[in-house]
Amino acid sequence: MTMAQQMGNQPLIVLSEDSQRTSGKDAQSMNIQAGKAVAESVRTTLGPKGMDKMLVDSTGNVIVTNDGVTLLSEMEIDHPAADMIVEVAETQEDEVGDGTTSAVVVSGELLSQAEDLLEQDIHATTLAQGYRQAAAEATAVLEDIAIDVDEDDTEILEQIAATAMTGKGAENAKNLLSDLVVKAVQTVADEDEIDTDNVSVEKVVGGSIDESELVEGVIVDKERVSENMPYFAEDASVAIIDGDLEIKETEIDAEVNVTDPDQLQQFLDQEEAQLREMAETIADAGADVVFVDGGIDDMAQHYLAQEGIIAVRRVKSSDQTQLARSTGAKPVSSVEDLTEDHLGFAGSVAQKEIAGDQRIFVEDVDDAKAVTLILRGGTEHVIDEVDRAIEDSLGVVRTTIEDGKVLAGGGAPEVELSLALRDYADSVGGREQLAVEAFADALEVIPRTLAENAGLDPIDSLVELRAEHDSGNTASGLDAYTGDTIDMADEGVYEPLRIKTQAIESATEAAVMLLRIDDVIAAGDLAVADDDDDDDMPGGPGGAPGGMGGMGGGMGGMM
Ligand code: ADP
Ligand code: MG
Repeated sequence: MTMAQQMGNQPLIVLSEDSQRTSGKDAQSMNIQAGKAVAESVRTTLGPKGMDKMLVDSTGNVIVTNDGVTLLSEMEIDHPAADMIVEVAETQEDEVGDGTTSAVVVSGELLSQAEDLLEQDIHATTLAQGYRQAAAEATAVLEDIAIDVDEDDTEILEQIAATAMTGKGAENAKNLLSDLVVKAVQTVADEDEIDTDNVSVEKVVGGSIDESELVEGVIVDKERVSENMPYFAEDASVAIIDGDLEIKETEIDAEVNVTDPDQLQQFLDQEEAQLREMAETIADAGADVVFVDGGIDDMAQHYLAQEGIIAVRRVKSSDQTQLARSTGAKPVSSVEDLTEDHLGFAGSVAQKEIAGDQRIFVEDVDDAKAVTLILRGGTEHVIDEVDRAIEDSLGVVRTTIEDGKVLAGGGAPEVELSLALRDYADSVGGREQLAVEAFADALEVIPRTLAENAGLDPIDSLVELRAEHDSGNTASGLDAYTGDTIDMADEGVYEPLRIKTQAIESATEAAVMLLRIDDVIAAGDLAVADDDDDDDMPGGPGGAPGGMGGMGGGMGGMM
């Protein structure tokens, strides 16, 4: 029997009863509203005078941040269209490390401009086509006006690092911090790639930001296991053990019947001998320092101390990786396998105190491809936000060294593009021309928002900026502190070229993707601003993947 026979003339129903379907203009409008709402939620944080937001999660954890991608990921946004805009921020974070707010704000504005054109009956595919053309032209123009930067040009790299910190918690100490960030990236830079994972950030609560410093090497947030071990070792051979220095408990609960005291003694002696052998293996290999992933038995500690070896236990695997990379040590999973060949080298291993905490500093490593930035600050929330700014800063310096091209910031590139795209629109013609013009208008959301957030009149600022760019001042941007239009290059406000090209690419892709959708079929409920949590559960009614409830549920404490 075939399906058709079974169904007879009944209409074929392929959707479950719980699913919701929104089609045509309603679908478009719903997606546009969701995208705009996401952009709106981060807009006030943009730029040097942007404000921070306080997020409180359901367990009462508090985050105070100005960082676009952090905000969006913490807000637990729960709408499929809104998620696509959040992805724009995530891509930006992965590719550049900064510019996440700008990318999202531009996406929102592209959708907003599109809304007007759709109302004028411009077809979505025409719009999509026009947006794509505009984005390609914009990228070409940006590449044209970009400034070349050499990887040794420390001054400009520091200005780039400082620009990424502007308006964030790190700003107060931006001279020191941008110096540290540039040194850190230059140190870990390889011929062909820069892995900023080799820059670890050690957050230390206590002291002030100005006391932050850079250590060439690795810092392990642990102390030596025994007071009887030395505090430091010079020209140290380093061993890494990916297991523990303990006697394995037997799998089965074996009961040992001891009939006389000698037998017990024999049993204990045997264990002791095994632990002693472990210590001796390490000493025989020639190690001065041993980092152990698991625990170290008291007896083993005792023998290691007797041998004058520094031992550290419960070392995080990320630290083990850093230690291996920087000292050249090869981790072994079982101590019996340890030989001289597995040892790495560090000129100095020492236990030192910072802010009342003991830590192990592994410095003067042969191949100093690992550095640690010690970030200090008064409270945990302060340090966390400084850390996020530092991550942005590391990202832009890395990107700049990789690409060798930068742009002046402060809204200058967007105003320049806007003018260039209006010219270009004339050559496009047809209805796509309207889309290119809309794209040009959309980019102006950046200078406009920078002005608004600085308490300036956005119209006045834009008029002035356009006039400057019209007369050829490509780097003219907005001084958020005075409200004047100034040359951003003179001011040292620089950003990597990729921050803008990536933002334009991702924002355009996301907007185009959303505009082309005319049918949303959701298993479960679907709403843009739905405050009741009842049906927002992932896998709730209809088993929506990830829950398609609504946005707003998770951001109860947002201020
Ligand atoms: P994003 O997440 O997009 O990086 P930010 O809050 O870091 O958001 O703001 C970035 C914007 O602020 C960019 O347009 C940048 O050019 C601008 N900006 C940074 N520093 C300055 C400054 N000193 N003066 C004017 N604009 C600045
Ligand atoms: Mg930024």
